[in-house]
Amino acid sequence: MPQKFQNFINGQWVDAKSGKTSANRNPANWDDIVGLFPKSGKEDIDEAVKAARATYEKWRLMPAPARGDILRKIGDLLVKNKEDIAHEMTREMGKVLDETRGDVQEGIDTAYYAATEGRRLFGHTVPSELPNKFAMAIRVPIGVAGIITPWNFPMAIPTWGIFPAILSGNTVVFKPASDTPKTATTLVQIMMEAGIPEGVVNLVHGAGGEVGNAIVTHPDVDMILFTGSSEIGKQISRDASATLKRVSLELGGKNAQIVMDDADLELALDGVLWGAFGTTGQRCTATSRLILHENVYEKFMEMLVERTKRLKLGDGLHPTIDVGPCINEAQRRIVQSYVEIGKNEGAQLVCGGAIANQGDLAKGWFYEPTIFGNVKPTMRIAQEEIFGPVLSVIRTTSFEEAIGILNGTIYGLSSSLYTRDVNRAFAAIRDIQAGITYINVPTIGAEAHLPFGGVKQTGNGHREGGWAVYDFFTEWKSVYIDYSGRLQRAQIDNY
Ligand code: NAD
Ligand code: MN
Repeated sequence: MPQKFQNFINGQWVDAKSGKTSANRNPANWDDIVGLFPKSGKEDIDEAVKAARATYEKWRLMPAPARGDILRKIGDLLVKNKEDIAHEMTREMGKVLDETRGDVQEGIDTAYYAATEGRRLFGHTVPSELPNKFAMAIRVPIGVAGIITPWNFPMAIPTWGIFPAILSGNTVVFKPASDTPKTATTLVQIMMEAGIPEGVVNLVHGAGGEVGNAIVTHPDVDMILFTGSSEIGKQISRDASATLKRVSLELGGKNAQIVMDDADLELALDGVLWGAFGTTGQRCTATSRLILHENVYEKFMEMLVERTKRLKLGDGLHPTIDVGPCINEAQRRIVQSYVEIGKNEGAQLVCGGAIANQGDLAKGWFYEPTIFGNVKPTMRIAQEEIFGPVLSVIRTTSFEEAIGILNGTIYGLSSSLYTRDVNRAFAAIRDIQAGITYINVPTIGAEAHLPFGGVKQTGNGHREGGWAVYDFFTEWKSVYIDYSGRLQRAQIDNY
């Protein structure tokens, strides 16, 4: 019998009120059931929000440096358990061990950053326009945060939300993706072991449409931090407006790497392989378009196809594997459907393009790393997020045209330029419409202490990561202290 897991509400491990569970499977071997997880509903969210609301009144009063001390212990425990968590994560969602180790490390970095932020959370002091009067603006916590996360970074993304939320003095209702409930459970266990008080973090498993929606529409939840698809992000934006919640959305991307004819081609090749096929292409920052200068097009394509064909598909727990499976059957079907769309649009399929199910791959959701050449910028495979191992290669004749193609989608998350020309590099930094621009680096590789997020329809203007996320999780309060002993009227007495 597979192990049964529970929700965590007000410091207690409890079943969903429905009593129902669903199986979480290993995408590299669907016979391997990781565990049975609660299928929760609105009634479970009501309990979790009640606990979070009640606990908020105590948690907000703990000094931020003391909250930071607990976050440091969380970081220490993540370090201690890094290897076990990485193995568990690969089994749960398929990406290779190097990458799941990196995913845990991002959680560690985020914990230590949050720990030190407890001794900053800087406000401002400014001079008052009136004599004998003091003015300052301080950060205050907001209340209950709903954190709703995707499956592709099962540790990193929840920590980006939860750690700054609680460091700032808020309490949390956390709904992880239903494909990665085990890593989420481990994270919550570690937070409790480190000394997070009961009720500060509440974990509720279940389907997005039900559990996620119950959080988004709950009148006693003050803010939502959501990372996921643009479609659901728009839905959340609408649903949360009824109660005027603060909402941070980090959504889809259609990220491009430009390779100019003066680039170091070997370097650009390593970059595009890692960007396009790392995490099986299932990163919000994945390289799904390569914009290639015509002078190096044939040569670079030859190098690219040769290396792509050598990528080894399989179970990410084995050290020789380069590319793991798609997350589930539905996702693999989407990938397959986009390959058909690309063929019908007249793009040239240069490698891959099929389900991989031979030998060891028979029971996993594997798909061959796939490249389309001669893609036109307006084709659907150059415009829509696929979220799988599919790269669309677009030919360009100039730097200016390449920037235009890169900017020509509704998204604006990550971007990359390979060139040795410093003038072009700076022009690109100025002109590219994206939240993140890399020069001679692939589209993936964000560090935990910098703002993370996108422009245009990738989000709604907030940023996760670094110092920027603390602007989301705190409210500004302006404070005036008059020590003149008389009524002083701003805007009036001095003018
Ligand atoms: P998804 O939008 O399907 O689900 C994300 C989360 O939302 C899950 O926990 C899901 O259960 C929940 N959810 C679903 N419907 C909901 C609803 N109606 N109300 C509230 N919650 C609901 O995304 P996914 O398939 O888990 O992840 C892949 C997507 O996430 C891709 O589009 C990818 O680009 C995006 N993503 C973005 C970033 C970023 O920072 N920009 C990072 C990682 C992933
Ligand atoms: Mn799974």
